Formats: sequence, C-alpha cells, structure tokens
Amino acid sequence: MKNITRKKILTIGHPAGVTNRRSVWPIFLPFAGCRQKCIFCAQNLTTGRGKVGDYKSLVVRELERLQIQSQKRGKIYGLGFFGGTFTGLDLELQDWILTKVEALKKQGIINFVCLSTRPDYITPEVVSLLSNKVDLVELGVQSFDTSVLLASFRGYSREVIFQAVELLNKYQLKFGFQLLPGLPKHSLELFYKDIELTISLKPATLRIYPCLVLKGTSLARLYKQGVYQPWSLRTTIEALGKAVLKIWQAKIQILRIGLTPEPSLISNILAGPWHAALGFLAKSLALNTYLHSIVNRLDWTPREILVPVRYAAEFFGYKNQYKPFWQNLNNISVCIKIGNFEQFIFC
Ligand code: SF4
Repeated sequence: MKNITRKKILTIGHPAGVTNRRSVWPIFLPFAGCRQKCIFCAQNLTTGRGKVGDYKSLVVRELERLQIQSQKRGKIYGLGFFGGTFTGLDLELQDWILTKVEALKKQGIINFVCLSTRPDYITPEVVSLLSNKVDLVELGVQSFDTSVLLASFRGYSREVIFQAVELLNKYQLKFGFQLLPGLPKHSLELFYKDIELTISLKPATLRIYPCLVLKGTSLARLYKQGVYQPWSLRTTIEALGKAVLKIWQAKIQILRIGLTPEPSLISNILAGPWHAALGFLAKSLALNTYLHSIVNRLDWTPREILVPVRYAAEFFGYKNQYKPFWQNLNNISVCIKIGNFEQFIFC
C-alpha cells in the first residue's frame, strides 16, 4: 500500500493589503502660510525651491504645466499643495486657488486634490471652505507629545491635534498625518505611542520623515552646541520597521518614509538618519519580520517559497540582505521562485 503524505502549504498575504498609488502632481509653496519657522524645517532645501513671493502667478504657471502634461499623456492626475501651511494663507487666496483647481477637476484633468497644513490651522472657517473641494488634508502632526511639540517650537499641544481631527471628521474631510520621529525630547517610547495614537485616530494616509539636522535651521545650532543628538540610522530603521507593520495592519496607507533625495537636500544634511532608500529599508524589515513571525510558528520547514513578483524586492531586502536567511531556513536549503502569485506561498 502506498503511503501518501499531503504536501503542506502556507499562504500569506502582504500585511499592507492591496494599495493603489495615485500619481500626484505636486505644487510646492515653501513656507507659504507659515507664521513661524519650526526648528527642524528647511523647506527651501527639502523641496528644492526658495520662498515664493507671488503665489497666484506660481499656481497659474503650475496648473498650466499640469494641463499640458495631462493632455500630452492622456492622463488624469491628482494634485497636491505641499511645503507650507496651505490653510495659513488668507482665506481669499485659498478660495482663489481652490476655485482654479475645481475648474480643472470639472475639465477631467485632475480627479483628486490634497494639501498639507498644520493642526492649529484647522478652523471651522477653513474646513467649511475645504469641504467638497479637497479630497485629503495632510496634517503635519509631527508628534502627539506636547513637550516634544514645545521643544520644536511647533506652537500647539496634543489637544489641538485632537480638535483638528474632530473638525475634519465633522465635515467628513479625509485626512492624513505626517510624523517626525527623533525631534528634541522625542524617544522611541514616545514614537511608539505616536503610532498607537495615529492608529486610533484612523487617518487615511501617513508620511514619516525621521528628523534630520539641516544646515541653516535652529536644530543645526542646537546640534553644534551639543544640546541635540539625532537618532542613529540603525535605531531609526528598527523603529520604523516596527511602526510600518502596525500601520499596515491598521490599513493606513503609507505615502512616504524619509525625505525625497533632492540634490539641494543631500548636500545640506549635517547629521541624522539619512538613507536614500529609508522607506524601502523599513518596509522590507517590516515584511520580513511579519513573514518570519508566522513561518517561525510552523512545526515544519518549507522547502520552497513562491514570492509575488510585486513584492520580490521588498522580500529580498536592500542588497538582498534577507535572501541568505530564507535560502537556508532552519539549516534546510530552500528553493525560492518569483512569479505572478497573489500571495506568498510556503510549501
Ligand atoms: S514645518 Fe511646516 S509649519 Fe513649520 S516652518 Fe516648515 S512648513 Fe512651516
């Protein structure tokens, strides 16, 4: 009699679920609407653009460029205003810009509008203006810890963030958060608390920009005086890896981790956890931690791993750092295949 043993199979989906990225046409308005300068901020370096004098002309120019590009490519874009405090601009100017944007929406050139601002610039007048015109409001929360916010001269407390969220929810305006781990007085413990609070408030999206010391900022002065010490790259990647997994499992879309490597930025970093592929490193760590935590509980060792092609890079990691681990799981040689699979298959 033949002894038939059934092949053991384990399928695991990506913890982020399926996310579709939107292509957003960014319009940078550095320091627009900002009434103070936060100690870490150098929008001129991070956006590669200096302070703008005439916002109306800039917006008109950018919208014309977008229109031409959309017609040339036959593509519908999202549109985003970044780099400053959009809702700190005069209400009339906000209205003027959003009316122009609405016209593009009606023409089918754009189908989505987002903007970034601060929690203390979310007022009843502002949300009433934005509702029905803006699809996503990104709040530069940075941290929920009031002592961290004060030390960074943000000028608001955690209660203000909750109030802003309440107002946005009341007007059914979708919102996202931006967090800035590693600010003065911030710690890993506080960062994990920030992540828990983020999840509890259910933003649609999240960006995480670990704190860098950029030339010309007040933080650079504190760093040179030995008063401020940034997080190391290693600590930051480990903290981000843990955070990313929680955020994925909460089904919050991560839009970006780490600043865009603009040449003007890279040459002006004095210190801090800089890596051009920071987001990839964090996501790759999160995915590998997740898969390993499940595979580790099995009472058998897979001999084959089928990897969805769309997640292959994240699975293998930066410079294939995780490949040797999976190829020699529990000291057993494992065959890894990449293909058009929907999920990871361990068998
Ligand atoms: S962090 Fe935001 S609010 Fe602060 S100065 Fe920079 S753009 Fe303005």
